[in-house]
Parts: sequence; C-alpha cells; structure tokens
Amino acid sequence: MTSYKELGLVNTREMFAKAVAGGYAIPAFNFNTMEQMQAIVQAAVETKSPVIMQVSKGARAYANGTILRNLAKGAVEYAKELGCENPQIVLHLDHGDTFEICKECIDNGFSSVMIDGSHLPFEENIALAKKVVDYAHQFDVTVEAELGVLAGVEDEVSAAESHYTQPEEVIEFSQRTGCDSLAISIGTSHGAYKFTPAQCTRNADGILVPPPLAFDILHAIEEKLPGFPIVLHGSSSVPQEEVATINKFGGNLPDAIGIPEEQLREAAKSAVCKINIDSDSRLAMTAAIRQHFAEHPDHFDPRQYLKPARENMKKMYIHKIVNVLGSNNKL
Ligand SMILES: [Zn+2]
Repeated sequence: MTSYKELGLVNTREMFAKAVAGGYAIPAFNFNTMEQMQAIVQAAVETKSPVIMQVSKGARAYANGTILRNLAKGAVEYAKELGCENPQIVLHLDHGDTFEICKECIDNGFSSVMIDGSHLPFEENIALAKKVVDYAHQFDVTVEAELGVLAGVEDEVSAAESHYTQPEEVIEFSQRTGCDSLAISIGTSHGAYKFTPAQCTRNADGILVPPPLAFDILHAIEEKLPGFPIVLHGSSSVPQEEVATINKFGGNLPDAIGIPEEQLREAAKSAVCKINIDSDSRLAMTAAIRQHFAEHPDHFDPRQYLKPARENMKKMYIHKIVNVLGSNNKL
C-alpha cells in the first residue's frame, strides 16, 4: 500500500471548498506522457494554481499505472524544484468503472478517484459509488461520482447520446453515496467532435457554433445542493487555430468542435469547481508536431519535435488556468 500522502499529493476536499467559495474552478488535465506532465506542472507553478492530474483507463493501458503514479510523484518534486514551496497536486483516476480499479488506485498512491456508474440504473449507481466511497474515505481519498450521461468518446468511455442530469435526483444520490463531488451532464461531451454539424449553427466565418450548455439544469442542481462541488467532463474547447494548424500541415479534422470558453468561464463562477480538459492538450501537441515536421523534414530526434509540442501544451494550459478557470494565484 502506498499512500498519496507519502508522495506529497493532496486530495480534492480543501481545494474544492475554496474553489466553490471563490467562484473559480480547478483544472483537471489528463496526462499520458512525461511531456504532458512537465507542461502541466510548469503551467501550474507559473500561474500559482492548484491542479488535478488525471489518468484514464486508456492512459493506464498506454503508459502503465505504476509509471504514471511515479510521474505524479515526480511532478510534486519537480514543482518544488521550480520554486513552488507547497504544490497542490491531485492524482485522480478518471472514469474508474469498477470497484476493483478504484481500490487498486487508492492502494497505489492516487489521492482521488472517479467511480463512473452513470450508465447503470439509479440504485446500482448508488450502490457502486457508496462501496467506493466507503473504501476510499478510510484512507482520506476523495471520490467523484456521476449522475447523467455525456455523449461522445473518451478512451473506452462512449455513449451515442447524452441524458441530462435530473436535478430532483441529486440530493438523494449525494446523501446516500457520500461522494465528495458530482459529475453532471448539462450538454458537454467527450472528444474533439462534440457535436454533429446538424446540431450546430454556423457563424459568419463558417465556423460551427454548438448548442449552449443547459445552465437552467446547472442552476437547479445548485439550488438542490448549495455549495456542493460539481464537475464538468468533456470540456475541451477544441481551439480552432490548433485544428487549422493540424489541417494545414497534413491533418484531416473537418468540423472538430468543442465547448465555447465563455460558457466554461461562466460555469466556473458557479458551483462547478473541476473542469476536465483532455482533447485540447492532444490537439496542441499534434498541431506543434505536425508543423515541426513540415518545417523540418530532416529532423528525427524526438526531442526536436517534443520540445515545441510541450511548449504549445504549456501555453494552452496557462491560457485555460488564467482566462477560463480563474484558478491562478489560488495556492
Ligand atoms: Zn469524462
């Protein structure tokens, strides 16, 4: 058993309480590689922001859970080396789908886990979440549960259509599970193709404009659970300049579309205190690498193209922290 406390990590309890009270949200960035970890830590240190580094099932399959846990341990030490005396870094399991996966992560240094029973009937979702909460809380690990289903594809999580969270269910769900935060479905979506063109309108430049988030549902949930930490998944904005760079240098991502940042900024001012961003990091990395290869066809040292990729991701993370989430200077 490795406690996250030995690794210098923290759970989400205190940072969520502060974020809800302060009207901002904590960034939850997925990571699979050392370069992503470095970019996340550099961005968090430079902006003095708490940060959640999250690991999906796909990340564990790709990079190995032990390696990712040690990267998170390294992240804490790296943040200190960069001059941050008291880094607030959470290592979070994204979309745990069984009790066993959550337990394995809790036993191996994760400070927070998500149990995603959102596809299950209400009673089964409660029973599964409660089982994880009862185990996690023995070790002071915090638990995110989910009510409502997001559309889209994220690693092995996929659903054809979304089902908005029912505000009348959230009180019973949070009380009976004892979860520390609740992921809700209000129109965000996983992946870089969050909406079909048919669901959108086009602006004067021909860029797709997605349907707005269901703020009425968010506000109804906040009324039922005042001050309770709410989480938004699938909240990449799919920056059109990165998509354009990818397409310019040989990529093919027609009509990739995300959640407008103004809507996320508005959500961050409410009880939404964790906003998950994954696709934007993938796009920033891919855009920089495609451009680098196009401009330097003779390069073959991974350091030559991963360095600009890391720089581009860091720029994106800083932009999100400062201009969208508002978590800068909150350490
Ligand atoms: Zn998700």
